[in-house]
Amino acid sequence: MPHIAVVGSGPGGVYTAQSLVQQTLLPDVRVDVLDRLPCPYGLVRYGVAPDHEKIKSLQGTLRAVLQDERVRFLGGVEVGPALPPSTLLELYDAVVYCVGAAADRRLGVPGEDLPGSWSATDFVAWYSAHPDARDDGFVRGVRTAVAIGVGNVAVDVVRMLVRGAAELTRTDMPQAALGVLAASEVRDVYMVGRRGPAQARFTTKELRELGSLPDTDIVVDEAELALDAGYRDPAALPGAVRRNVAVLRSWADRPHRGGAHRIHLRFFLRPVAIVEGGGRVAGVRFERTAPDGLGGVGGTGRYEEIGAQLVLRSVGYRGVPLAGLPFDAVSGTVPQAAGRVLREGRVSPGEYVAGWIKRGPTGVIGTNRPCAKETVTSLLTDLGALTPGPDPAPGRPDPLAGLIAAGARPVEWAGWQAIERAEAALGGSLGRGSVKIADWAGLLDAARDAHEATG
Ligand code: NAP
Repeated sequence: MPHIAVVGSGPGGVYTAQSLVQQTLLPDVRVDVLDRLPCPYGLVRYGVAPDHEKIKSLQGTLRAVLQDERVRFLGGVEVGPALPPSTLLELYDAVVYCVGAAADRRLGVPGEDLPGSWSATDFVAWYSAHPDARDDGFVRGVRTAVAIGVGNVAVDVVRMLVRGAAELTRTDMPQAALGVLAASEVRDVYMVGRRGPAQARFTTKELRELGSLPDTDIVVDEAELALDAGYRDPAALPGAVRRNVAVLRSWADRPHRGGAHRIHLRFFLRPVAIVEGGGRVAGVRFERTAPDGLGGVGGTGRYEEIGAQLVLRSVGYRGVPLAGLPFDAVSGTVPQAAGRVLREGRVSPGEYVAGWIKRGPTGVIGTNRPCAKETVTSLLTDLGALTPGPDPAPGRPDPLAGLIAAGARPVEWAGWQAIERAEAALGGSLGRGSVKIADWAGLLDAARDAHEATG
């Protein structure tokens, strides 16, 4: 009975588990899905914006995989110094690392670490109740905010900054973050791209949604948009980009409604410094750029400053090295071939990757399906080749004992269900739907209640 460990229970990990139980070559396969957190679903729980209920409902699909009788969720298990990859390889027939891209890219400009300058991922973690998130209050005292970058994460944080109390109360965001955002006095939010509208990374659905936010005007400068040849003549653009340009054009023509919030979409401005005033963020200094005709931009030597009390750097995620696994610091990924981990250019038997740590932080959630499938195909080929016969490891003890011996105190599915019940009860006590628990102690207490009840 081959026993596979999948490290990480985000979409990359769960789709890997799904591929493993859907294949027919190894019908008696067992899969343990490990996660550092006591809660499953990775960025679907801790990255998808709380007001995107439809995307969040994907948790139902992921849940069904984790409830398959051949799959076991083991939360609260951290692969690290106490439980290194070499130990996992002793406990399992194969290990698939699906640990995502946990850090944010740096801008590399002066002032980046001033109070009030945050990575968008810090802000997202806070309103998503990640137990490691720092609570800075973020929007307290803020009238104007700047998001640097024009990808979907920037669109998410901009939208969350202008959402009203009524819309946020319906979500599962933690009560403390709700209180702060509901009292927000943010009026102007800038989303700023260093290249043109035809090079922006957001997708049309997400962009369009900004235009339907209540009590919010979208401000674009037609002359700035028209610096982009693709905006002036979109005919030759790929369909998705052409649709983005059409949305921006519709906003250029739309009269403002005098809403309480204004979202300003700016282009051809690259950040050169976060400006300090009174010991904290006072704005962002940008250099005006000009298109180079090849999709890139060059500097112009002209500068512009946007005053702001909050800066959210939304310039992409970055993978972080996992001790004991090889890592390519340039791409922020684990070196691999078709999902097989490479150590010094050679395949490392039994070790695999899928998701963002394999291919970098790009693509939508569904992109993880074919990515996981490719890795599982490699794994199946190797398991068949390495260990012929129906039972590659007869008599292998349950790896759970080894995990516990290494100091782990796994939160199993019943523990996660207890967390879900505790979150529903918390929401009920607040007159809301389910409300996320935002701290380690609260999560572990809830999970342990279940373990004590059953054991
Ligand atoms: P992203 O799509 O890679 O966008 C990063 C943005 O940052 C780009 O506009 C990029 O501009 C800009 N940037 C990078 N370095 C910069 C610098 N030094 N100065 C100024 N700007 C800089 O990353 P993301 O927004 O973090 O999204 C990550 C992935 O998650 C994407 O695949 C995204 O689609 C996905 N996601 C999807 C959803 C959804 O479907 N609703 C929601 C959130 C995230 P350049 O293009 O010029 O490099």
